[in-house]
Amino acid sequence: MADFVGAIDQGTTSTRFMIFDHGGNEVARHQLEHEQVLPRAGWVEHNPTEIWERTRAVIETALNKANLGHSDLVALGITNQRETTLVWNRVTGRPYYNAIVWQDTRTDSIAAELDRDGRGDVIRRKAGLPPATYFSGGKIQWILENVEGVREAAESGEAVFGNMDTWVLWNLTGGTDGGVHVTDPTNASRTMLMDLETLDWDDELLSFFGIPRRMLPEIRPSSTSELYGVTRSDGPLRGEVALSGILGDQQAATVGQVCFSPGEAKNTYGTGNFLLLNTGTELVRSKSGLLTTVCYKFGDQAPVYALEGSIAVTGSAVQWLRDQLGIISGAAQSESLAAQVADNGGVYFVPAFSGLFAPYWRSDARGAIVGLSRFNTNAHVARATLEAICYQSRDVVEAMREDSGVALDVLRVDGGVTANELCMQMQADILGVPVSKPVVAETTALGAAYAAGLAVGFWTSTDELRRNWNEDKRWSPAWNDEQRTTGYAGWKKAVTRTLDWVDVP
Ligand code: ADP
Repeated sequence: MADFVGAIDQGTTSTRFMIFDHGGNEVARHQLEHEQVLPRAGWVEHNPTEIWERTRAVIETALNKANLGHSDLVALGITNQRETTLVWNRVTGRPYYNAIVWQDTRTDSIAAELDRDGRGDVIRRKAGLPPATYFSGGKIQWILENVEGVREAAESGEAVFGNMDTWVLWNLTGGTDGGVHVTDPTNASRTMLMDLETLDWDDELLSFFGIPRRMLPEIRPSSTSELYGVTRSDGPLRGEVALSGILGDQQAATVGQVCFSPGEAKNTYGTGNFLLLNTGTELVRSKSGLLTTVCYKFGDQAPVYALEGSIAVTGSAVQWLRDQLGIISGAAQSESLAAQVADNGGVYFVPAFSGLFAPYWRSDARGAIVGLSRFNTNAHVARATLEAICYQSRDVVEAMREDSGVALDVLRVDGGVTANELCMQMQADILGVPVSKPVVAETTALGAAYAAGLAVGFWTSTDELRRNWNEDKRWSPAWNDEQRTTGYAGWKKAVTRTLDWVDVP
């Protein structure tokens, strides 16, 4: 029996391949960035051909580094940047247009239109999502309407849609020569096109965007012993490996953090933040600005749902301090600069650079630094930036409490910003609950590996996976209730100052 599971993590800035052993330990990895194509303000694209080339390269290099071959891998999982939308020709294999990335806002008028008649509410009810530029449906519509020849090719079944999971899997299984066209419910639940209860594409939702059903991939479980397919021997693995797991990146991180019970939550701190709360087999419809999403569906078991709070700007606000303000030379320096002062000195920074995502969903908001007095320094601004990461997470936790009645007893964290000890201490202080970080920080790739390995019996149960989770570090709240209440009141006030700033079409 092969000893390892591989995971492809096709992310927003880079693609990585990781190999894990039975204990969930990392054996090897390789990672390559790809170009961010920015043709106009608000437009963000990726070149799908480049992404497939990078995927091939990271697989080959990681296997070489570890001196392993395809026969050492029992299965392969895929995790991916969600929502990013591609349409390609299944006969030629050629994309009709670059992939339109989740951050791209070119579909703002399509999204706004949905809320002018009753369609927005249908989308909320059936798909669990508020109409927004973020999701795939509007992006597919844009391609159908703006790229020549796509509409006819979609009607005839030649033009097909996929998120990055689907594109990578189609290529791994042979592409134009028998490539398999599938996705999983976690990715499909980010399109505004899938009914959360049936886990199938919904004709009424498709009609809102004018999307022919024929162009959509088949929705298969996130982990399946029936396999989506096997890799081709003329591909980067040079042999057949079972493809048995697909999870969107944030759901993968939730699985990697072994949040398998209702009430368990993880928060990933990267460019933005994504907090997911497992709500079990119960579909909780948010009244507080969260998304209802599929957390995972393993084999023929009932789907498990999650409430999600997506925050657009967290770690990228630290990058902004570095690149635009120039007050730090690297992200890590945000910690030492912020540590020069004992508190925020009355300063709040709401980094609503492109509006506010959860729980506000206000595209008319823009960033603001408020509460400044002559006394304040760079250090206060740095501290306010780190606090903003934590206060935005608190907003989401409050919304989750309202929607689900669940009060967290611990928050599991991962992602680049968790390297910042001061920020994690602030998070515990601001939330009033302990914050806990695992030893294996690459929870996204690990979650995809878990989904793939569970399917083929490499791991036999989620209980076995739980035993792989080990705590690296824990931060406990040090603030008293009064500090917490006063601090949060200041934040809420600061948020109101950012609203209603720009006119939305
Ligand atoms: P992504 O997967 O979204 O690209 P990562 O998990 O790699 O993100 O995290 C990168 C983000 O983390 C960047 O926005 C960076 O500014 C931030 N970051 C990295 N190290 C630190 C640190 N020590 N303190 C604060 N922010 C950090």
